Amino acid sequence: MSSGHYDPQLSAVGNAPSPATEPVTQRIEGHAALVGDGMPINRVLPSRLRRLVGPWCFLDHIGPADIARVGPLRVAPHPHIGLQTVTWLTAGEILHRDSLGSLQTIRAGQLNVMTSGRAISHSEESPATAPAEIHGVQFWTVLPEAARFGEPTFDHYPLLPKIEREQLSITVISGEYQGQRSPARHFWPLVGLEINTGVVDTALSLDPAFEHALLVIDGEARVDGEPLLPNVMLYLGAGRAQIRLASEARCRIILIGGKPFEEEVLMWWNFVGRSREELTQACRDWNAGRGGFGEVHGYDGDRLIAPLPPWAAQPGV
Ligand code: MN
Repeated sequence: MSSGHYDPQLSAVGNAPSPATEPVTQRIEGHAALVGDGMPINRVLPSRLRRLVGPWCFLDHIGPADIARVGPLRVAPHPHIGLQTVTWLTAGEILHRDSLGSLQTIRAGQLNVMTSGRAISHSEESPATAPAEIHGVQFWTVLPEAARFGEPTFDHYPLLPKIEREQLSITVISGEYQGQRSPARHFWPLVGLEINTGVVDTALSLDPAFEHALLVIDGEARVDGEPLLPNVMLYLGAGRAQIRLASEARCRIILIGGKPFEEEVLMWWNFVGRSREELTQACRDWNAGRGGFGEVHGYDGDRLIAPLPPWAAQPGV
């Protein structure tokens, strides 16, 4: 996806508030927006209340939507630096093209991970044969300093490990959980799970060194007695060895977590960096066709133009 909906104030500040090193309960309400040519999403991260959960810096809940009604997903070619895009669908299909020449359809239950490294560009669209319903999530993870100037790569994972318990099915999207490790390539300690419940009241173990957050994307549940509401992320802080998950019906929950990210991060549009100058330069390079972003071939439409950040109007920045 592309962060077409951005907030200059939000982008201009650092990681604040700091990661909670102990258990907390914080509700972070997402906001509805449209990406591409009008796909409804709910953006949960970044938020004024919280910018990072471990290395997770961006979370769009895509749909659920009927593309026969809202139109197909069309996110034109756009660049990224300093991040990984992590795309996970529970329904529908997205065709990914990138400047490495990748052409990959992602379907429900599959994972795409694109590592921008120093520079990449991509597009995302509904393939002509896509089913009507689209539903999923797209995350970004911040690349740490040691990885952010590396080679751009794209990986597709058609099969991910699952943990099956009574009335509970957990897919390990990223990282490791209960001895099951996702094959996805990452550069900072993290976890990403899809948790599907039936009627359940059970304990889930967590790594107390990680901060965690949960987002229900279908149904309703409670975590340690706190209701999980659609499009409201529940941030839990760190220091929890387990949580109590209860649901009275089928429910689908996304859990993200990770070691608190230690570097100060700045975001603007589709770029994650460390300084205003770096982000301004990335905008100018992309718009001028420089910067090693490459070209996306085969997308039927023009590429996106990077909006210059407000600070770019100041001399010398
Ligand atoms: Mn993108």
